[in-house]
Amino acid sequence: MLDEVKEVITAPVEVARAMGITLKQLFRKPITNQFPDEPAQVYPRFRGRHVLKRYENGLERCIGCALCAAACPTECIYVEAAENTDEDRHSPGERYAKVYDINMLRCIFCGYCAEACPTEAIVLEHDFTLAEYDRWDAVYNKERLLEPNNPEYLVVRNDEVFVKAETWSSK
Ligand code: SF4
Ligand code: SF4
Repeated sequence: MLDEVKEVITAPVEVARAMGITLKQLFRKPITNQFPDEPAQVYPRFRGRHVLKRYENGLERCIGCALCAAACPTECIYVEAAENTDEDRHSPGERYAKVYDINMLRCIFCGYCAEACPTEAIVLEHDFTLAEYDRWDAVYNKERLLEPNNPEYLVVRNDEVFVKAETWSSK
């Protein structure tokens, strides 16, 4: 009974509080980003287009192990490995990725591929402009992924606030 009475009293207060937040927004200046004339702002943790990284000496980080492909829940990565030779060396290890394709139409940007990669070769950066006229152009090959991708229309914000979430175990 006491709980019901408490609920009757607190419910309107909560509704009024929520309405107050909505009303406060009514008097705020709208935030309109004139993209692409003005750069879009993204937070560092935003996961966008993949890039394959190189070491400073130019060798590819990817060793063709296909752990990224195994971790991918949508099976959108295809890796074919080949042996490095002294005459034709691509990466520091024994093997390299002869073929490395990502089908961006299937990607859900979960980041599991980057998590699984032992050499930090595959990284999800911040570019979100992934529209194509031809669906086959959405299959990114290795050469395209190895190109550095730092578009001018993107600004990475540095004011990200990390909030420690309350979990069941920390309650
Ligand atoms: S981000 Fe997720 S879905 Fe996309 S390629 Fe990586 S593992 Fe696959
Ligand atoms: S990107 Fe990383 S996980 Fe994927 S094949 Fe290359 S080295 Fe292995």
